[in-house]
Amino acid sequence: MAKIGHTLYQLQLLDIELNEQTSKLREAEGLQGESAELIAARGAYEQASKELAHWRSRLRDLEFELHRVMEKIAATEQRLYSGQVTNPKELRGLQQDHEHLKRSQQNLEDEVLLAMTRVDELEKQVAEAETKLEAVDAKWRAEQERLAQQIAQLQERIATTKKQRATLAARVEPPTLALYEELRLKKGGRAVALMVDQMCQGCRVMIPTSKAQIVRRGQELITCTNCGRILVVQD
Ligand SMILES: [Zn+2]
Repeated sequence: MAKIGHTLYQLQLLDIELNEQTSKLREAEGLQGESAELIAARGAYEQASKELAHWRSRLRDLEFELHRVMEKIAATEQRLYSGQVTNPKELRGLQQDHEHLKRSQQNLEDEVLLAMTRVDELEKQVAEAETKLEAVDAKWRAEQERLAQQIAQLQERIATTKKQRATLAARVEPPTLALYEELRLKKGGRAVALMVDQMCQGCRVMIPTSKAQIVRRGQELITCTNCGRILVVQD
């Protein structure tokens, strides 16, 4: 019984440590997984790639269409200048077709130019987004590796601390341990308070001299009259 207060104080130190280690573990676990930065960088790259694919396909379609129109123009011109068509109405029809096709050619050429410019811009954008994504991904991987190591270390430390706590708790009488646990819940994790110069360090209130003497002797459990914590003196 002589050192019971000290054992409880050691137990409290272990419990505080265990709490800190556990909250650090939760924090590290919470940081695992994809970061917002990574998701954003990948999203930007995918969006630009998708748009580039769209404009490349549009450019191909326009070029194909332009090719088709130019073939038609060639065929129309061949007929127009072959001298085989003499009917004025048919000739006028051919000329109208020719004019219409030339206008289509002009429009398509404009659109091809526009699509080419857009493809150029998007190729640059995709390259930039890819570089950014690679950098963010590398940074993220390094961070995840560091987190995994930190988590493993914390889990190891928690297991060790739990073992130490179990060994220590086994030395305490069950009713005393029950009181400690009860106070720990009520007093924000601090069931034991040091008494320094006759003052309870848990609530900063002076302990009456007679009571303080019993605490110093350490033969029985004394609680602070003000905050209710178990009082101990440090060796
Ligand atoms: Zn107190």
